Amino acid sequence: MRLGVRGLDQTVARISLARPIAPGSKATIQIHWHTRLPGGDGGRGHRMTQRWGDRVFQPTQWFPRLAKYDDLRGWDTNVYLGPAEFYNNFGRFDVRMDVPAGWIVTATGVLQNPDEVLTPTARNRLAQVSKSDDEIIIVGPDEKGPGRATADGDRLSWHFVADMVNDFAWATAEDYVWKATRATIPGKGPIPIHMVHVPERANRFARAGAITRHALEFYSELLGAYPFPHLTLQDGPSAGMEYPMVINSNQGAADHEAAHQWWPMMVGTNETWYGWMDEGLNVYTNILSDAHEEGRPASLDGRGQSYGRQSGDESEPPMMWNSNYGGDLYRFQTYRKTTLMLSMLGGIVGDDVVQKALGDYVKAWAFKHPSPWDFAFFMNTALGQDLGWFWYYWLWTTESVDGSIQKVKTSGEQVVVTVRQDGQMPSPVVLKVMFAPEGPDPRPMANAKMMEDGSALVTWPVDVWFGGSKTFDAELTFGARRIEKITLDPRGRFPDRDPADNVWTRGG
Ligand SMILES: [Zn+2]
Repeated sequence: MRLGVRGLDQTVARISLARPIAPGSKATIQIHWHTRLPGGDGGRGHRMTQRWGDRVFQPTQWFPRLAKYDDLRGWDTNVYLGPAEFYNNFGRFDVRMDVPAGWIVTATGVLQNPDEVLTPTARNRLAQVSKSDDEIIIVGPDEKGPGRATADGDRLSWHFVADMVNDFAWATAEDYVWKATRATIPGKGPIPIHMVHVPERANRFARAGAITRHALEFYSELLGAYPFPHLTLQDGPSAGMEYPMVINSNQGAADHEAAHQWWPMMVGTNETWYGWMDEGLNVYTNILSDAHEEGRPASLDGRGQSYGRQSGDESEPPMMWNSNYGGDLYRFQTYRKTTLMLSMLGGIVGDDVVQKALGDYVKAWAFKHPSPWDFAFFMNTALGQDLGWFWYYWLWTTESVDGSIQKVKTSGEQVVVTVRQDGQMPSPVVLKVMFAPEGPDPRPMANAKMMEDGSALVTWPVDVWFGGSKTFDAELTFGARRIEKITLDPRGRFPDRDPADNVWTRGG
């Protein structure tokens, strides 16, 4: 067999090796290539836009890389079409960028030769960054050109090395302002947050340092310590995109893009096929981060239930459908639906338990490549129950629960609530029972929890539907105390087309 190459002018090229690479052995591939960075004056409106004219460059997806090979499909040759993202190998990057002196360069990886490319002033200022939460100007708006923004000279070669990353992005501009602050990573200590922006966009970075610090510290607690030696925010036409150690973001998306350092920079999922494992899990954790920053509990009630109004739209792709072909509802499928799914999961096992399991999932699968099946099996084990039915309906279908209270029948002390489900997705039956203000104490029920407001929360497991019936008679045995009101799914966790039919009131 001869070395053969096909498709060098295409997005995906195929190289047939003269000899196969045996398991555990190595091969070296040398590629000479050039690339043209897309964009132009004003460059906006597309995630592939990588420069503002000849002023700011944000090279991403800029080098030939090895496709990911896995045991689900072999080589993954999905191409980047803009919205759905990547599936990358982890590895070590050792990169040198040769640019005109005076141009500031930021990148994935640790700068190896600060003595050669930075001024002594900048190096002294950088040494202060880890000492406080203050923001420190490393290169100010009035420090321009060789010998002032950077070391003196004609051209400078910036050398960056990154271990265990799944991509490499960088940026460069002649008039970047460079400021820095720190985040203190639990169990690890301070790391720098760098920010580079063009001078006239300083206002977009005024709160970026504080937001990013909160994000790195919060997600480290939730999901495991931030593993990288810095995080850098790069200004430019791309303002909402993530790479290892680097986010193309100002303060607007800083929290979301910082969380991507866990998904997928640590948990290396196939984002093209399963965008929800990246964006969806990220958005769920963003809700927790926002609430924490504002010092309030995260609001997950109502979200699971809201899916009932979406379900049935024939243009919605199931979450397991390749995100590249998500169509009009790509953003719903990839970004939003996971939160609705985890809202329901929290309604079954508790939100704290879900969040603890997510943190354990990140730690177990860090720098590996879990599939949706790995995620589901991990969660089943962590949550101690077989949730096969749950994953099936949420990931493979677009069905909902659509529950209602059909009737309530009282005979003596016995109250029977007939709950109906018109959807295909089953769910536990959760009833909130409100009692009359006066009367004998409600008798205890094994599956009831008394609430602070005097009501009772009564739960029957999902299994009650597995026989195929569309109705379930939920028996309440609270004794002689009069029941005034019963609400099905009071916290709004189970997908429902019309929550108005979930409430029964005496005489109502
Ligand atoms: Zn994202």
